[in-house]
Amino acid sequence: MLNIVLFGPPGAGKGTQAVKLVNKYNLVHLSTGDIFRANIKGETALGKLAKSYMDKGNLVPDQVTISMLEAEVDKNPKANGFIFDGFPRTTPQAEALDKFLSSKNTTITKMLALDVENDELIKRLLERGKDSGRADDLDTAIIANRIKVYNEQTAVVADFYAAQNKFEKIYGVGSVEEIFNRLCKAIDKQIVSN
Ligand code: AMP
Repeated sequence: MLNIVLFGPPGAGKGTQAVKLVNKYNLVHLSTGDIFRANIKGETALGKLAKSYMDKGNLVPDQVTISMLEAEVDKNPKANGFIFDGFPRTTPQAEALDKFLSSKNTTITKMLALDVENDELIKRLLERGKDSGRADDLDTAIIANRIKVYNEQTAVVADFYAAQNKFEKIYGVGSVEEIFNRLCKAIDKQIVSN
């Protein structure tokens, strides 16, 4: 299986690139943010709970997020592999994912981290907020909190994969196609060496 964690701060381009990668490598795209938003739209209990955190730019609690993610993986027993987008966002989530995948005799192949400077992130998020319909992209205070949460709780997840020699930084500025080519190069290199 090819299991990629697509990593990076909010606005780094994970969602855009994930869609292209799943098509090229025939993978299943699991975006925890998208799944939460679908639950909010469907007015489920999970959506209601998630919304109270998302509206402030805070993380949804680990246990809720981990259970949801595991259920989504289980819905795709025939998958060639997964692109995890926006997950794991904390070390406990990364540990839970490792344990869960190893119970299925698979593992994370690689974490690819999109690297984009702060000013560019804020610019992109505000631009996206104009038509994404996402409340958390419209307010500069919420955007600032999301970046703060990323730096304080999520950035450290890179160390978890670096310790396993699975971490690779990819420069996330340029055209969508340029960035996609950089990601594909890193993945192809990995496929050859496996
Ligand atoms: P995203 O679409 O990845 O930007 O996520 C939007 C929001 O969903 C985040 O700001 C969090 O509130 C919540 N969220 C998404 N993924 C996770 C996760 N792995 N852990 C906790 N909260 C998450």
